[in-house]
Amino acid sequence: MSDMNEDYESLEKVLIHERIARKKSERILTEQSKDLYESRAELLKIQNKLELALWASNESIWEWFLDTDKIMIRRYNRGTDTAYEETQTLDEFWAKIHPNDYENYRLQWLRHLDGDAEFVDITFRVKAGEGYRWLRLRGRTVELDENKEPLRILGTSKDVTDIRKAERSSRLIASAFSSSRDAMLILQKNKQIMEANSAFFTLINEENHSTDIDLSQYIKLTERKISNLKLHERMSEESEVVRADRSAIPVEITYSKFEFEDGEKDYIVAIVRDITERKKAENQLNRMAMYDPLTNLHNRNAFQNKLDELQDEISEFSVLFIDLDGFKAVNDTMTHEIGDELLIAVSKLLRSSQFGNSIAARWGGDEFLLAIRTCEKSKIIEYSRQVINGIKNIGDKLSLPVRVSASIGIASYPENATDNQALIRAADAAMYGAKALGKSAYVFYDLNVEQQAQQKISLLAELKKAIDTQSLDFHLQGQFDRTETPVCAEILCRWQSPIHGHVTPSVFIPLAEENGLAFALGNIAIDAAIDFLTLLKSYGYNFRIAVNISPLHLMHPDFLMIIANKIKNAQVNPTQLELEVTESSFIGDAIRASEVINNLRSMGFKVAMDDFGTGYSSFSYMRQIDFDIIKIDRSFVIDLESDQKADLLLRGIINICNDLGVETVAEGIETEAQMMLLKDMGVTNFQGFFLGRPMPISEFVYSLKNSD
Ligand code: C2E
Ligand code: CA
Ligand code: CA
Repeated sequence: MSDMNEDYESLEKVLIHERIARKKSERILTEQSKDLYESRAELLKIQNKLELALWASNESIWEWFLDTDKIMIRRYNRGTDTAYEETQTLDEFWAKIHPNDYENYRLQWLRHLDGDAEFVDITFRVKAGEGYRWLRLRGRTVELDENKEPLRILGTSKDVTDIRKAERSSRLIASAFSSSRDAMLILQKNKQIMEANSAFFTLINEENHSTDIDLSQYIKLTERKISNLKLHERMSEESEVVRADRSAIPVEITYSKFEFEDGEKDYIVAIVRDITERKKAENQLNRMAMYDPLTNLHNRNAFQNKLDELQDEISEFSVLFIDLDGFKAVNDTMTHEIGDELLIAVSKLLRSSQFGNSIAARWGGDEFLLAIRTCEKSKIIEYSRQVINGIKNIGDKLSLPVRVSASIGIASYPENATDNQALIRAADAAMYGAKALGKSAYVFYDLNVEQQAQQKISLLAELKKAIDTQSLDFHLQGQFDRTETPVCAEILCRWQSPIHGHVTPSVFIPLAEENGLAFALGNIAIDAAIDFLTLLKSYGYNFRIAVNISPLHLMHPDFLMIIANKIKNAQVNPTQLELEVTESSFIGDAIRASEVINNLRSMGFKVAMDDFGTGYSSFSYMRQIDFDIIKIDRSFVIDLESDQKADLLLRGIINICNDLGVETVAEGIETEAQMMLLKDMGVTNFQGFFLGRPMPISEFVYSLKNSD
């Protein structure tokens, strides 16, 4: 039994031993295959990583084998996570190279094969579809034969088309940047200046062309949205460059964003343009739009803007509408330079500080505006007087031939109008009121004034029409000698307006004179006088006709020529025309007026001084100028019976005239008593309602016939 047991025991030992051995080898086997598996998996992972890395850097692997002379390119597809290989002969590959790049490519390749270059590194174009793409091939020999000739070359290839493009454009940009005549800066998004080209240094007048100096002190970069700028988008702003000498010039800065090389960083190019000239032109245009070029005062537009500002600023102010009296006469009788000089002098007066912090403007022609910061009546009156006196003084200083003054209309904000245009209109209307008062006056606006002004405007338009259509009438009023025989007839203008009815000459004659119509109206009167002379002659009456001549008409450069032609054409004897001129003709240029009068007299016309005694210097003019006739004003005649002084004065005048051989005519005789007195004083001729009213020529002839 023991033997059997022994056998059994030894068998069992062997069995156990074998089992252990098997287990051990089994364990070893599993452990080994696991290692194998793991290392294989590791290898795959590494390969995958490598492919991913190549893909990420946009590269592929290529491999060339000497034995087959084939080139294999392995590309990885991220989508399918697989790689595919493309194999072609070297000849096939070369055939696709751009002809211009081919030689270089071959040379580089052979240099590597010959061992002259350690690496292959060639950039060239290969055909891709219709066009070409840039490829950069890099690699080196990895296997040599026994003769040390390359057997296998391995490397990577990369599509560098986009980079080439970016490089090219940044090269272009760089050269454009440095050579541009426009000053340029390269900025970062935070407006930090990175680069400046030489044109910029020229612009700032800085000799040191180094970006080490802090360039931000030379230019104000204010465009706030610059960091939002998109690629290829532009933004502009106007700013200023302060030059090395601290002088400032206006510039326009245009920002645009672009990428550098690989697009990693964005930069902003700022083109800086000197816009001094453009600004100058703009300013000039602005000035032209806002200022009157002659006087440099604000123009209409600017004044209205200023009034708007004033309304926001203060609660009340006044506008003075200032119209020069006598300016037309200056312009008509003198050169335009003198007219301009007057306007400039007036503008200086209005700009002066004596009117507080006021705003002066030229409204047009001889009209000015002054906005003063008060509605206080006494202050306004003080200013208005200063304006009137100031303008009178200017006239005296310029020794103008005509007395200039000003008529001023005043309107207040908000009392008269809250709308600025209405305010100016109100002041304008009040100005007409001042003119109606006899000029050289100021008038505060009220509704009455407005109506009068409206009336005046419409009256003027109607008068123009009447002159154009020659629809004015003329009456005659006789002048008689001591025996009451007619010696002359004064022709007096009459106007029956279809709208305004009968308008008296004392209204429409001044209106015509103020508005440049004196010359036209005066010539019509001369024509009428000539016609009447011819007509009277046909009735057998040979006395003369007296025509009233306005100062502006008398001083008109063509006056003598025209009147000479008229009598020549009508074959009228000039001695039959008497021209009545008033003292106001001499106020301006007495020397010229006397020349004209002398000329008229030497041509044969009779010249009378009208309204003698109403002006200030009747006697002095009588001394300077030779008149044929003196017409004693009606005011003397009225006072005659009651006023002893008038009586004495008149006797004196008449005696002087008689001594000088100057005829006298007494005007406005209404009563027999007046007639007797004047006769007794030695007056030559007589005119007045007592002897005959002004009447149409038909009536006039009839009345003469009856008294014959
Ligand atoms: P004037 O030259 O002094 O003319 C005389 C004015 O006295 C006329 O007024 C006449 O009607 C008026 N008159 C004549 N006798 C009497 C009288 O006994 N009593 C009164 N109360 N008045 C008398 P009229 O026609 O209204 O003319 C006024 C002024 O208008 C004229 O004053 C003259 O300066 C101007 N005028 C009239 N016609 C013309 C014209 O054709 N050309 C120009 N430039 N002025 C004219
Ligand atoms: Ca007269
Ligand atoms: Ca008169």
